[in-house]
Parts: sequence; structure tokens; C-alpha cells
Amino acid sequence: DQADEIRVTPKVKENKLDPNTQYANERGSDKDHLYIVVIGHVDAGKSTLMGRLLCELGEVSQRTLHKYEQESKKIGKQSFMYAWVLDETGEERVRGITMDVGRAQFETKTKRVTILDAPGHADFIPNMITGAGQADVALLVVDATRGEFESGFDFGGQTREHALLVRSLGVSQLAVAVNKLDTANWSQERFSEITKKLKAFLKQAGFKDSDVTYVPCSGLTGENLVKPPAEAELIKWYSGPSLLDVVDKFNVPERPVSKPLRLSVNDVYKGTGSGFCVAGRIENGLINKGDKVLVCPTKEMAEVRNISINEMTTNVAFAGDQVSVTLTGVDMQNVSVGYVLSDPIQQVPVATRFEARIVVFNIKVPITKGFPVLIHHQSLVESAHIVKLKSLLNKSTGELVKKKPRCLGNNCVAVVEIEVCRPICVERYKDVKELGRVMLRVGGSTIAAGLITNIVNT
Ligand code: GDP
Repeated sequence: DQADEIRVTPKVKENKLDPNTQYANERGSDKDHLYIVVIGHVDAGKSTLMGRLLCELGEVSQRTLHKYEQESKKIGKQSFMYAWVLDETGEERVRGITMDVGRAQFETKTKRVTILDAPGHADFIPNMITGAGQADVALLVVDATRGEFESGFDFGGQTREHALLVRSLGVSQLAVAVNKLDTANWSQERFSEITKKLKAFLKQAGFKDSDVTYVPCSGLTGENLVKPPAEAELIKWYSGPSLLDVVDKFNVPERPVSKPLRLSVNDVYKGTGSGFCVAGRIENGLINKGDKVLVCPTKEMAEVRNISINEMTTNVAFAGDQVSVTLTGVDMQNVSVGYVLSDPIQQVPVATRFEARIVVFNIKVPITKGFPVLIHHQSLVESAHIVKLKSLLNKSTGELVKKKPRCLGNNCVAVVEIEVCRPICVERYKDVKELGRVMLRVGGSTIAAGLITNIVNT
């Protein structure tokens, strides 16, 4: 029975190395792994830029590239060939497994980088949310073309919303690609005009100046993505890093391998052998083949029969890894997207009520007590209500402005209490970052995002 199984777990762990040693043995010589989400207004050139980057880095075969070149010529849109690259790699890597987030990978000198979500999809925001919820850092792409930067930034564009969203989800390091600068003849004046506006805004959004790097580039021509700049007009005034250098210089967040296991499930599917598979990211701790894990919030015991990373079988996987594990001892029907596989002893909190510090944006009707929302928490989407407006905070200092405000309008920062219709696995942001981020959506648009500060009931 369950109690017996719980007692077994520590014994299994006794003969094992301590998690940090195990990690050092297995991965000590590996490059650091970094997850990056690409954000920006539609048509800013995100797909083209990432596609071109992957090509320049040799992540795409000549054959594939040739195929796209032919196809894109045929439809008279040759510039699309790079954008397709990204969709294709995303698809190939996951091979039929439907993940919410498509992935492509590349390497820098010191890092293995995973691009979260395949940008360029029509309905970008929901994908981006999933991506942003898992990201370590973000790449903001802006279109430097005269008039285009302005429409993406000033007039209801997504530049501001995306930047606020990732910041309120805990992402603090940002690379800004000032893209399509070829259309402005690599003008330094245009570059400065854009960076000046962005600097003011990003500071207000909570990014430190020292954590943001601006890179003039062109995804289409490949200028300043991987190789040092060559364009005569650009080298006249720019001697800074290429986009790849900036990515290489990002700080990698610490992977908490010695904390209790938390694996957030983002896919459940029938495997080939016995049992079934769940795919997801290990947020905390590590998982060994043969481990007993607690499926939460339902709290059923399961055994890990097999672990694979990128289709390769492994005996152990660590915090930061996106894995696929085969489970036995529990029914496939009883595991869903949004569940967490937890350490059986130090369990993930399960709750229906929690407090979050949120940033509100993009709302037509102010938020009042009882306001219904959909909460997005990792891959989970669940209906919920804002049951209490606890306090309104100063946007830049975080100081208390008002207790129990009557309503919350655009751009305010507030602490609210949220009640979810069913128990879910949540953590405080300060305990487990990835399980402490939450987004609120209404009628297809994101109205707020924030961090879980307190769990009210468990
Ligand atoms: P996304 O919606 O942000 O993914 O943007 P796309 O990558 O689909 O690009 C939108 C349009 O801008 C396409 O027509 C691209 O060919 C064009 N484009 C992208 N990058 C550049 C660039 O660096 N320079 C120029 N001139 N055009 C670009």
C-alpha cells in the first residue's frame, strides 16, 4: 500500500551519491544549459532571425535549406525560407509528441541553448506564455524600420506587453535585437533613438540597465548574428558583441539539483512498452530510474521505469532537463498535463487558494473582487477567481500604496488572493521559481502575470 511504498523510498536513496556529486559526475564537463524565450511584436522578424541564426550555426542541413529555398522561390517569398527552418526543427525534435512548446537548440562557446516556443505562429501569446514560464532569459526582437518600431511599441503593439509579461514571470536578463537595421541603412541615429525609448520603458518594467544588452542586427542578411559585424555603415560606429556573444554571456541560473524533486508534466502519452510516458521539465531535484514518485495533486504513487532526454535513454536526469519518463503503478487516465511528479516525502504543496504579486496589463474592465479569470500555471489552465484585492504597490519600488484597493487598472502592481476551482500544485516563487509563476487570462488575452508569494490553504 501507499504508506509502505513511502517508507521504501529513503532506503532506495541510501546507496546513492549525494545529488551534487551525482550531478558533477554526470554533467560536470557539459556546457551549461540555458532556456531562452523569443518575444516581440508580430512581424518583428523573430522567426527569420532565429532561423538564420540556426543556419549560420550549422544546425540546419544544406538539403533542408535548399528545399526551403526552392519552395520559397516558388511562392515568390524568398525571405520566408529562414522562418520555415524554425518550424521544421521544432517539429523534428519533438517527433510527433505534441508539446506545448516547440524547441530548437543551438550552442555557443559555453552554453547549450534551447529556444522555447516556435515564434511566428498565428496565435503567439499562449505559446509564449508557456515558453516564458520556463525561460531563464529572453530575447526581445524589435523592428528598426521607420514607423514599424513605433507601431510595435507605441500604438498597442505587443513589445511592451511581452516585456512586462516575461519580467513579471521572473525573467531578469534580456537581449534586445534591434532588428532589420538594414532597412534604416545601419543608422546609428536610428539605433540610439530606439534604444533610448526602450531603456526608459524597460527600466520602468523592472529590468536593470546592466541586465539588458542592445544588439544592432538583421535576421534577413545575418548581419551581426554570429560573426562580428562586416557591414561598412555598421562598423563605423559599432564595435560591440554579436547576438551570439550576448547569448553566451548570459548568466545561467543555478540548477537546484539537491532540492526535493518537482517535475512539471506538460504531456502524457502512450509509450511503446509497459506503462505510459509523461514528458515535462524537472524544476527541482533529480530523478533516477527506479525511483518512486508521488503524482500530484492526486497523490498516487508511481514508479519510474525509464527516463529519456531527447529520445536517448538515461539512468538519471536533473533539474533543468526536459525529460520523458515511463511510469508504472498508476493509471494513465489519472495523470494530466499540469500535474507535478513530486518527492514522496517532501511533497509539493497542493492548494486552491494562494496569494500572488501581479502586474496588470491590457484590461478593458478593471479587476474587482470576484473577477473570473483563467490561470495559466506551467502547462495547466484552470478557471479561477480573484477573491481578494489585498494591496496596491508602487510599480518601481514595490512599496505599499494602498491596502484593500477597490479595483485594479492597467499597469498597476498588486497583491491579490486567487481561488482556483480545483486543487493544483503550487509553490512560492522564492521556493521553486518555475512553479511560482502564474498568468491570468480573460477572453483570449493576458490581463496579468505574477509571482506566487504565499500559499493560503493546503
Ligand atoms: P515574426 O512574425 O516576428 O516571426 O516575423 P518574420 O520572421 O515572419 O518576419 C516578418 C517579415 O519581415 C518577413 O517578410 C521577413 O522577410 C521580414 N524580415 C525579417 N527580418 C528582416 C530583416 O532583418 N530585414 C528585413 N529587411 N526584413 C526582414
